[in-house]
Amino acid sequence: MRLHTDIRLVKTASLPQITYDFRSDHFWRSVPAWQSVTVQEFQDHRWQQQNCVKSTKDVSSLLGSLVGSSFLQDLDDGLSKTPMNVRITPYIFALINWRNPYEDPIRRQFLPLGSQFLDDHPECMADSLGEEADTVAPLLTHRYPDKVLFLPTSVCPVYCLFCTRSRVVGGSTRLIHKSTYGSKKPQWEEAFSYIRRNPTIEDVVISGGDMFMLTPENLSYIGVELLKIPHVRRIRFATKGLAVLPMRITNDDTWTEAIEAISDRGRALMKEVCIHTHFSTEHEITSWTERAMRRLVSLGVKVRNQCVLLRGVNDEFDVMYRTLKKLSYLNIQPYLVYVHDMVPGCEHLRTTLEAADFMSKSLQGTTAGFNMPRFVCDAPNGGGKREISSYERYDKELGISAWTAPKVKPDQVFYYFDPIDQLPQSGREIWADRLERESRLTTFRHQMSLA
Ligand SMILES: *Cc1c(COP(=O)(O)O)cnc(C)c1O
Ligand code: SF4
Repeated sequence: MRLHTDIRLVKTASLPQITYDFRSDHFWRSVPAWQSVTVQEFQDHRWQQQNCVKSTKDVSSLLGSLVGSSFLQDLDDGLSKTPMNVRITPYIFALINWRNPYEDPIRRQFLPLGSQFLDDHPECMADSLGEEADTVAPLLTHRYPDKVLFLPTSVCPVYCLFCTRSRVVGGSTRLIHKSTYGSKKPQWEEAFSYIRRNPTIEDVVISGGDMFMLTPENLSYIGVELLKIPHVRRIRFATKGLAVLPMRITNDDTWTEAIEAISDRGRALMKEVCIHTHFSTEHEITSWTERAMRRLVSLGVKVRNQCVLLRGVNDEFDVMYRTLKKLSYLNIQPYLVYVHDMVPGCEHLRTTLEAADFMSKSLQGTTAGFNMPRFVCDAPNGGGKREISSYERYDKELGISAWTAPKVKPDQVFYYFDPIDQLPQSGREIWADRLERESRLTTFRHQMSLA
């Protein structure tokens, strides 16, 4: 099993060497259809958006004979199993190593292959985090005492197969119907009004979907309205944009100037305005990222990173370590690493809690404390983010852990489940036997209620 291999690797190996040479070659030209695309075209954010890859047909016509028909068939099969759509910017698509797409860590995040899917865990849920239950106004989730999550749009510059909000983000797929919304501006006012009426709210996370898809006018409108509220002290714009479409920051002046203006306004009010972005691996970091960060840093905009621990993507120590070091080098502060939420269609991407806990332990002390991400489990059913090693109980054979959040959701216990294929043989056998499984789970839950 991968976990034990990793443990050996970490115990014996010294830290990997890092060279901060961010790639600046014309890498997109290895995609046959983009052989003659110029730097001017490639750096144009409109060209990037107009040329997004959205279907098996797009993949096939861009790559020609670079991929075989069995890969395309596998992809088509994957598209009937995933709740998420395909949308990939040319920048990201061209960073995939098309000579070995099966194992490529970027491909694994954005293009589903039918052959790699596993059955969903019996306990997985579309709204794994229980966001609907904590919805207090349209597009607004209020779970923690002093912070809220505002979702002004449901579209993104790319769609990630592992998205925790795949039930609403992106359009309908062959598998599920979604009522996707663009920017539902008329409903924003209700969300602002709730925040105005609740003076304990100091922190607003603006996510989605992805605020990268908002127009500069809408971005400014949200920023100004929120900063006007006296008790709102911190706002964060959550976007994968910097990782997948850095051209919008370097080459779309109206958009970047909108961010600059909100940031300046916040600073004048002694409030924090920052960007939370989402790089999963070092492979998404290039000289385009460096240029985008150079601009944001010069404007005084703080950027942090949050990502998901993904099997076969960033769950090996060296990959995670190099990613954190490169992000830190570019002034992107590694902030959060989530254990994969228990959402459908993602079983092959999830890791065990033990693997996440071990990764966190291994990383500690290897670099500046403020560049050390918090590893968290967002406890299913609304328990909220919990420190990875703060579980109350953990049965590794059964792959079940119990969590509490005494001051946020008193008197409740939350359970997280490891992916079954990663359990020891005995654990997999228990899950295969319905009665045995129910009896073990009941015992585990009972022990928790006695504790
Ligand atoms: C993650 C999250 C936040 C922000 O939490 P931090 O730990 O401050 O990053 C706020 N509200 C909800 C509902 C969240 O899921
Ligand atoms: S960018 Fe964020 S919200 Fe959009 S699909 Fe990816 S994880 Fe989901």
